[in-house]
Formats: sequence, C-alpha cells, structure tokens
Amino acid sequence: MRIHEYQAKALFAKYGIPISASNTVSTVNEAIAAADALGYPVVIKAQIHAGGRGKGGGIQLAANTSEVQEAARRMLGMNLRTPQTGPAGRTVRLLLIEPAANIAQELYLGMTIDRCNRAITVMASSCGGVDIEETASSNPEAILKETVDPFLGLRPFQAFRLAHRLGLPFKTARGVAKSIQSLYRLFCEQDCVLAEINPLAITSEGEPLAIDAKLNLDDSGLFRHPELRELRDLNEEDPLEIEATAANLNYIKLDGNVGCLVNGAGLAMATMDLIKHVGASPANFLDVGGGATSDMIEKGVQILINDPDVRAVFINIFGGILRCDVLAEGVVAAANKLRISVPVIVRLEGTNVDQGRRILNESGLSFLTAADLGEAATMVAKAVGVIS
Ligand code: GDP
Ligand code: MN
Repeated sequence: MRIHEYQAKALFAKYGIPISASNTVSTVNEAIAAADALGYPVVIKAQIHAGGRGKGGGIQLAANTSEVQEAARRMLGMNLRTPQTGPAGRTVRLLLIEPAANIAQELYLGMTIDRCNRAITVMASSCGGVDIEETASSNPEAILKETVDPFLGLRPFQAFRLAHRLGLPFKTARGVAKSIQSLYRLFCEQDCVLAEINPLAITSEGEPLAIDAKLNLDDSGLFRHPELRELRDLNEEDPLEIEATAANLNYIKLDGNVGCLVNGAGLAMATMDLIKHVGASPANFLDVGGGATSDMIEKGVQILINDPDVRAVFINIFGGILRCDVLAEGVVAAANKLRISVPVIVRLEGTNVDQGRRILNESGLSFLTAADLGEAATMVAKAVGVIS
C-alpha cells in the first residue's frame, strides 16, 4: 500500500528523522492561513501517490501570500501529470505546505528488499534529487549500497560507512548515519517494502533534512498495523482494483488489452507470459484463487468487461479445487447479465472439464473454446489483431 508524503513524514517524526514543520490543506484559504503561520518563503507540494511532481508542476516555492494564493488556485483540482502517473495523471486534492528549506546539497537515501540478495539493501547517493532515475541508469556506480544481514540487522558501522562514502564532512556524516539508522528501524517496525528520502537535503547549517518522503507498506503486514490501514486513500487507487479487493479477488491493472481471468498465481504469471509470447499484452493480472465461487467468477468477468482497455478476454482455468463446472456457471451468469462485446476465449482443463465445456456450449453464447494452451494463445493473438 502506498501512502502520501505528509503521512510518511508523520512517521518520520516518530522515528526522529528530521523534517520541517508543515500543514496539509485542501482549500486556497487554508493554504494562505497555513503559509502565513509558517512564515515565508514556503514550498507548496501536491499530495499524490506518484513521484516526479517537481517536473510536472506539482512543487512550487512561494515568497508571499499572493504567490501562495496563485499556486494553490492552480494546483488544487489540477490533473497532475508526472513521469510516474502515466498520461491519465492524478487529481490534486491536498497540498502540503512547509517553510522552504535552504538546501546546500541533495542526497538520495533509499531502502528496499533486494530479492536477489534475500536481504534489505540500503542505497545512498550524493547525486540526489529529481534526476536520480537517470543517474541510476547512466551512472549506477553513483548509487552506493549496503546489504543488511537479516540476522544482525543494519550495523551502526554500515550506516557510518555509507555516510562517509558520500564524501560528507564528519559532523554531517554523523547526522546522515543517524537518519539512515532511524529509517531502517521504521522500515522494519512498520513492515515497509520501500522507503525513500529523495532528496535528503543537507541544509546550509550542515544538518540533514528530509525534503521528500516515500513509504510503500507491505499489504501482507497491514493486519499488524491497524493505524496504518487508516492511511489508505481510495482516491489514489484504480476503481477496478478497489472493487476487486472488496470481492476477494487478486487483481492488478496493467497497460495491455487482453483481460485475463485465471486461477492460481503461478498459472496467472504463465498466462501473462504466454500472451506476451504471441505478441499481445495483458490488461491485468487476475487470480480468482483456488476456492472461487461462481459469484466471484461473475464479479471477475464483470471487472474485466468494465475495463475500457480490454479488447479480448482470456479465461484460463486449470480445475483443481475450483471445478470447471463452477467456473463455467459463473462465466455464463456474467455473460447473461452483461453485454459482452469483445471475444471471450476459454481454455479449461481439469476437474469436471466435460461438464464445464457442456455448460459453455449449451449456453447459446459465443465463447471461443480452445483445446489447449497453444490454440488459446493463437485465438487471443487473432482477437486483438496482432496476427491475422
Ligand atoms: P518530487 O519531484 O515528487 O520527487 O518532489 P520533491 O519533494 O522531491 O521535490 C522536488 C524538488 O523540489 C527537490 O529535489 C528540490 O530541489 C525542490 N524542493 C522541494 N522542497 C524544497 C524546499 O523546501 N526548498 C528548496 N529550495 N527546494 C525544494
Ligand atoms: Mn522527491
């Protein structure tokens, strides 16, 4: 689960990571009042679940009341497009206002679970700021790393070593090392999968200050943190994903045009590979799970059909615990209720496959049933026009 910058900064404060005083506002008048109280100059920051805001016009300095008024008017309600939002952009509903910091240097600090290393990896760079992605690809040596031993945790010397390798003077390095240790503690205690401070500014006084804050939380750990669940902002999530979660379906929206409904995460991954292999592209990942009911299947089909990007639906089921006849009933029920205007390709195998196929055939609806995976893939490719 993603959270907003202002929410991440509230957690930073609890862990002693230095941040500025701030206020979140949702109207122009509130923005003016907040800025007047904080003192000028201020920085006004659009709160959306995507980075790159600076480049998209979502971060602005203001020197006085009228500049705040102008910036807040422009930003509130705007559709903010950044390199990370995609062309659709995000609506800005909330602004964070802080006194503008005096930035002498911008560092990058991040940590994530490195699955290749089977460990948390801490990353730091002296080239922090809005071009870190470019640095990471053009000059990867500029990103320093420390791998954390899962049994020992982040050792203090590792934090100091990173800070020193950044080429900072001793006093500043000590402050940065402390922030690294604090962020690591937060990362573990709050079950994060990604934590980033970019930039971690060094102020003109040589002190670290978290200018930006990004925390991605592990969904599987949220049951341990009821207070973190409260931070969820449904405005920032795909409406189809919200619907799917409510129906207990494991759904992730992607940018292709083949809607997939599959049982089992492994088969879902293999299905997406297969779609790619024939030159098409999946519109989603949808695992209905082993114990899906026909109601869940119906809901799954409905979610796929309601996605305007979907030009063909591919139902790929290996009936084990989920029987093929249950699947077929759900699909037929959905097709009877909804007006499906795209081709639906079905590949069924496993428990009660004959009954399942019979239900589909006798429904009078025009499903394309494939005898095997290879044939299904060809049908999918034809349906979306990548082969003729
Ligand atoms: P992002 O573009 O979404 O990553 O938003 P950030 O919060 O990282 O802000 C982008 C850039 O705006 C930073 O790298 C800074 O250069 C600049 N910026 C943000 N806050 C301040 C501030 O308080 N003072 C100054 N001088 N610059 C700031
Ligand atoms: Mn940033």
